[in-house]
Amino acid sequence: MFESLRRLFGLQRSRPVVDAAQWARVEAALPFLDFLDPGDRLRLRDMALDFLEIKQFHGAQGLQLDDDMLLAIALQACLPVLNIGLEAYAGWVGVVVYPGDFIIPRREVDEAGVLHEYDDEVLGEAWEGGPVIIAWFAGAQQPAGVNVVIHEFAHKLDMENGGVDGLPRLHAGMSRSTWAAVFSAAYDDFCAEVDRGVETVIDPYGAEHPGEFFAVVSEAFFETPTVLQERFPAVYDQLSQFYRLDPAAGQIRHQGRCNRRLPD
Ligand SMILES: [Zn+2]
Repeated sequence: MFESLRRLFGLQRSRPVVDAAQWARVEAALPFLDFLDPGDRLRLRDMALDFLEIKQFHGAQGLQLDDDMLLAIALQACLPVLNIGLEAYAGWVGVVVYPGDFIIPRREVDEAGVLHEYDDEVLGEAWEGGPVIIAWFAGAQQPAGVNVVIHEFAHKLDMENGGVDGLPRLHAGMSRSTWAAVFSAAYDDFCAEVDRGVETVIDPYGAEHPGEFFAVVSEAFFETPTVLQERFPAVYDQLSQFYRLDPAAGQIRHQGRCNRRLPD
């Protein structure tokens, strides 16, 4: 057991100690980690422990955070930066966790000066220079086809160079114009699909905004990589260069291994 209470209250933080049974229990709920090779999985565990050491967690609306939840969040938060580095998450410390869908009361004044008040149901929010807010769903309550943690941390990467515009800070050797051309073509195509009412293979929420499209395809990149690669191969290729990972190849290797274990 590690000391989540100490961390919750921002007291002296120490590196958590996680035993094999706890890793196995937490990772069993994150089957897409199987797409990493064994060396990468160990590096991810190590990075997750670093993340728990440097970030502060807070359970909102009475949610009690337990060690398994913190570890599951840390593993998923670190997956996108496994080959980018935790420095990409520098400049802020807070992770606020709400139970299930949470409601944010909104007040907005429109162009005509009329005040609109409404309840916004959200799964998460990421603030530039501020905390990441995520909804926690226990086990089977997790909405299908959605990864709240990867989504919000993809927004954090997008914001690193200012704004949520679907263009994160690209690595040396990557082309901004290629990225923009690939993503805008895919986004237009995807929005047209959603407008036609077609059942999409990735979350239709991605049609809300180019920044949401980047977050949604990032979720798919890690959770259902072969599906994303088949539907938007050029987007998959750009994400593979950005995240410096090839989870589709990992998924194919993993399924090959599983299939060979099946009896004739
Ligand atoms: Zn979003």
